[in-house]
Amino acid sequence: MSDAVRMSLADVHRSAKAALLAQRFGASHANAIANTVTMAERDECRHHGLFRLPFYMNGLHSGQASPDAEPELSVLAPAVIKVDAKYGFSPLALERGAEPLAALAKKMGIAAMAVNNALNVAALWPEVERLAEHGLVGFAFVAASPYVAPAGGTKPLFGTNPMAFAWPRNGKPPVVFDQASSASARGEIQLRLRDGRTLPDGWAIGPDGRATNDPAQALAGAQLPFGGFKGSNIAMMVELLAGPLLGDVLSFEAGERDKANTGAPCGGELVIAIDPVRCMANGDRARQLDHAELLFDKMLAQDGVRLPSDRRYEARKRTEAEGVLVPKSLHDSIELYIAGKRVAERNAYEGDHLTHRKDAGQAVAI
Ligand code: NDP
Repeated sequence: MSDAVRMSLADVHRSAKAALLAQRFGASHANAIANTVTMAERDECRHHGLFRLPFYMNGLHSGQASPDAEPELSVLAPAVIKVDAKYGFSPLALERGAEPLAALAKKMGIAAMAVNNALNVAALWPEVERLAEHGLVGFAFVAASPYVAPAGGTKPLFGTNPMAFAWPRNGKPPVVFDQASSASARGEIQLRLRDGRTLPDGWAIGPDGRATNDPAQALAGAQLPFGGFKGSNIAMMVELLAGPLLGDVLSFEAGERDKANTGAPCGGELVIAIDPVRCMANGDRARQLDHAELLFDKMLAQDGVRLPSDRRYEARKRTEAEGVLVPKSLHDSIELYIAGKRVAERNAYEGDHLTHRKDAGQAVAI
């Protein structure tokens, strides 16, 4: 990457936390968000790494996010807990709910956590990977801002609505997938806009309802679900699980609430944990997990197959040793944040602000 700055993961965490604190996030939120951003950089999920810091800042500066809300845990039913994020960003609420959810799943066999009123701009694999590290199967579902047209339609309605799944393994990191129900994550389109690259076919339609390869047209129009009506149905399911099921908002309602177009929607997240040993008579975790290895072995015996999450684990080994490369413009923006300045970036990759796109990712203090 030309014009990039190499940072160790410790530097990433230090810089992200310093930037968040300087922009007046409370210490618990700054630490939890810095953890999330650093994990994303570590696993080379760049659209959820330092690149996301401006979204956290936008959420705060627009007044949509609380800088210091203390998440509140409560019990809704014997196997259902709730974490009210109270309009804070999701990483702290998810950190606070992780251990209680895992303990409840071990006690009850299956448990669910409703996260409400959380601004979410993160990837979901950290919450399910955490559960799998406890020997549990994990699922997570989040709805988001209305960006995706339902199959056959042309108007944005669904969020990019990711779902994640984790399966624990004996002596190995879990198998995890975490995928948007749109053909691509929105962050990927934003990165392509920033970098002047076109989109593959099938990702989006422009405001005129026609297929487009232009990222600016795609952001102004609608993204498409993956796999036509099948992805559209999954997006609909995620809307229902993260919204009405939890008494939280649908993506279009989150969009109506985000009047400042911060790109940091506020809504619900459903996390489910299942303890394998409680799902069969005389359950034996080690034997059940060994059984699953037969499937993974057979998959990997075919040329060209890899397990989801293996890319992240490979990246993890590399970045823990070598650090990561961060575009200089983004690095400069972070330095400005740390100096207590605002950066003219707002939701610079999006809708109303497309006119600012030449500045996107550039450090312009205001
Ligand atoms: P990708 O399409 O990049 O990857 C989806 C999943 O498929 C990953 O788990 C990936 O594993 C796996 N995968 C990729 N290639 C293969 C392969 N050849 N064989 C097997 N598995 C493979 O992700 P998306 O673009 O769909 O989503 C990116 C992220 O954006 C997600 O983390 C999601 O949570 C996040 N997101 C967050 C939103 C929010 O509102 N908070 C909204 C939408 C998305 P691997 O990581 O190992 O490559």
